[in-house]
Amino acid sequence: MSGIAERLGAIRAGLPERVTLVAVSKTQPPEAVREAYAAGQRHFGENYAQEWRAKADALADLPELVWHFIGGLQTNKVKYLAGRVGYVHTLDRLELARELSRRFAARGASVRVLLEVNVAGEAAKAGCAPAEVGALADAVRGLPALELRGLMCIPPAEGDPRPHFAALRRMNEALGLPDLSMGMSGDYLAAVAEGATLVRVGTAIFGARAPRAG
Ligand SMILES: *Cc1c(COP(=O)(O)O)cnc(C)c1O
Repeated sequence: MSGIAERLGAIRAGLPERVTLVAVSKTQPPEAVREAYAAGQRHFGENYAQEWRAKADALADLPELVWHFIGGLQTNKVKYLAGRVGYVHTLDRLELARELSRRFAARGASVRVLLEVNVAGEAAKAGCAPAEVGALADAVRGLPALELRGLMCIPPAEGDPRPHFAALRRMNEALGLPDLSMGMSGDYLAAVAEGATLVRVGTAIFGARAPRAG
């Protein structure tokens, strides 16, 4: 027994009802997703377009599975996602927003999006600057196939994440948006305390990830 169902149960028991648990299945085989699905999990997060596609094909028989794309997204990969993912958490630039809207509209579909914010202004991190969020949100609201749901962040690896979670919540409130994607295995309870509605949890459900090949 792998323990996935047990760990899912323990995590869910600690989450308020308003919070959706996104099980981050990157690097995990389709069988692990299947096992979580059998235990009632429906929302799954993936980071790499190529890996996700293969997994989505292998799991196409699971009718209620909702994919969340939570990785860095190149504009030329958007076409693979169109009509197949329910959420994109990592929208951080207008060019990507336009391509998402164009590709999903072409499939007669729409997608829920969150704007990724580089809350601490880290040079090596994706996400738009806090000062640019308002303008990007306005632009996204004008695109037909995108449903703007909220903001997302990955706080710095070092230090207390809570001030960053709180800052993101204030930005989200100022924009009047319903969802906040924040919190991972190590800090999801802190994120929930600061108002997260989507938590992205991988290793605490599936166990440690093998190093990524390629
Ligand atoms: C990998 C990843 C997660 C999950 O991380 P864990 O520490 O395994 O819970 C969450 N969010 C993003 C954006 C990730 O890349």
